[in-house]
Amino acid sequence: MSESNTADQDPWLLTPGPLTTSRTVKEAMLHDYGSRDQRFIDINHRVRSRLVDLVDGAESHVCVPLQGSGTFVVEAMLSNFVPSDGKVLILVNGAYGQRMESICAYHNLSAESVSWAEDEPVDPSVVAERLAADSSISHVAVVHCETTTGILNPIEEVAAVVAAAGRALLIDSMSAFGALPVSSRSIRFDALVASSNKCLEGAPGLGFCLAAEDALEATQGNSDSLCFDLYQQWKGLEVNGQWRFTPPTHCILAFDQALREFDEEGGVSGRGGRYRANCDLLVTGMRELGFETLLPDELQAPIIVTFRMPADAAFDFQIFYDGLSDRGYIIYPGKLTIAESFRMGCIGRLDAGHMRGALNAVREVMAEMGVASGSPTVS
Ligand SMILES: *Cc1c(COP(=O)(O)O)cnc(C)c1O
Repeated sequence: MSESNTADQDPWLLTPGPLTTSRTVKEAMLHDYGSRDQRFIDINHRVRSRLVDLVDGAESHVCVPLQGSGTFVVEAMLSNFVPSDGKVLILVNGAYGQRMESICAYHNLSAESVSWAEDEPVDPSVVAERLAADSSISHVAVVHCETTTGILNPIEEVAAVVAAAGRALLIDSMSAFGALPVSSRSIRFDALVASSNKCLEGAPGLGFCLAAEDALEATQGNSDSLCFDLYQQWKGLEVNGQWRFTPPTHCILAFDQALREFDEEGGVSGRGGRYRANCDLLVTGMRELGFETLLPDELQAPIIVTFRMPADAAFDFQIFYDGLSDRGYIIYPGKLTIAESFRMGCIGRLDAGHMRGALNAVREVMAEMGVASGSPTVS
């Protein structure tokens, strides 16, 4: 794969998004389609059905795309699916769980949280207890991969507990969808949201909600926002294949191409396999340089890796960041309350060659700083 990114070489994005995309995905945007163009309507249809198929939902689920970044569709999901007389239990082990709390506060939704440390997965047995103790909870909201740390939450077990208690599940699978399997046959959910740019490697600008059709039907009239009304957005598309407002045409053309490349790579297993290999290479290489991951391997999703900040007094994160950036690799600062850290992503159009290149760059910048080891403990 290791194609060059553009003629003048854009940096490689080892971040949680926006991410590196293929040249062909970018080239797919070299068209101006009108929103009523039959070709464009057909592409929308193809993209939406492909996404529904990804959760084995052809008989039961529908796809509602929404303009904006990923958070827009998380906000749409919560504000549409949780009715004004309902209550949502939010499972929080990082910043994206906290963001769902803020969304509920903005919309005056009745919400409660149960929280864990950032390096602990959410615990389904605690969820079961909370649901048993409070019959007013109608919905549970969970983040699939908490991108704050890169931790994988056990959504299948959470879904089982929520279904057993007869409540509805809402999933933010933004950073996992396309790389980790989610089947509506084994994970019962009312709605799941993700976006065009993360593991599906399209251009950013579009989110989508995969919803159980009966649950989406029941949201009619719930929305407190015109733009975020998923029911109306869905009905509009169903009536004539058109978006209610100006569609992000170029983004959808890119997404269609990205989904084609996703299939060519072997779907979730191919895509997830490449990310897993990227992650393993990165973690092994960084450990050889003394760095430590925040998470033990069994909790690490192959999406983004959090490394503890080195203890060596000569290590300066800004110099490290700039040195990697000068060499064409963009990493990401940490977002943790529990430890000083930084993050390196394994997703987007990156492969083993890019991971080795990033590791070489890390080695060089450490040598320049005079840092002998990336260890977070003073030796
Ligand atoms: C990226 C991401 C989002 C959406 O973030 P945007 O910056 O709005 O695209 C939401 N949830 C998770 C878990 C994410 O990783």
